[in-house]
Amino acid sequence: MAKSIAGPEIERLIQLLAKLPGLGPRSARRAALHLVKRREQLLAPLTAAMGEALEKVAICSVCGNIDSRDPCTICCDPARDQSTVVVVEDVSDLWALERAKALNAAYHVLGGVLSPLEGIGPEDLTIRQLIDRIHRGGVRELVLAVNATVEGQTTAHYIMDQLDGLDVKVTRLAHGVPVGGELDYLDEGTLAAAMRSRTAL
Ligand SMILES: [Zn+2]
Repeated sequence: MAKSIAGPEIERLIQLLAKLPGLGPRSARRAALHLVKRREQLLAPLTAAMGEALEKVAICSVCGNIDSRDPCTICCDPARDQSTVVVVEDVSDLWALERAKALNAAYHVLGGVLSPLEGIGPEDLTIRQLIDRIHRGGVRELVLAVNATVEGQTTAHYIMDQLDGLDVKVTRLAHGVPVGGELDYLDEGTLAAAMRSRTAL
């Protein structure tokens, strides 16, 4: 590692910024320099916003969404069809579907996908909570909006097996969602169309 030319505080800032997705050491250094140069305009409000996020942001105990209230705004919204639950891998997928206004429904965030290679099993995801949620009643349709990767499809099959004997309709996003493509990278029109023409499993 290069010898530090700035103080340890800035070095620490760079190291932390470099842990953010999409930022390597070089862009972390640029970001850190940008922040300290704009102390009042950027560093101070960013610090305050981070402190507030740390204090207030929570994970919804019903669906796994991130919000400043628990249950989250989506789970509490009476104008939403709470009987349709869209199952997604990550909160970023939920956000993508919301941006696309794909469906006025509820969600369930799995927290990842099954991956034996990476040692991720069913107990590492919120599949149990999803099944419990269906057992509590009120869910009529489950839309499996997992990514079209091998792991995503394995996860979908596993969930289907767990639903055996439960009275719930299962659908998935229509084809047109590219294989291996993450929902977050799809344009909003494609996502909304894939949701509209979802097919029964
Ligand atoms: Zn929620």
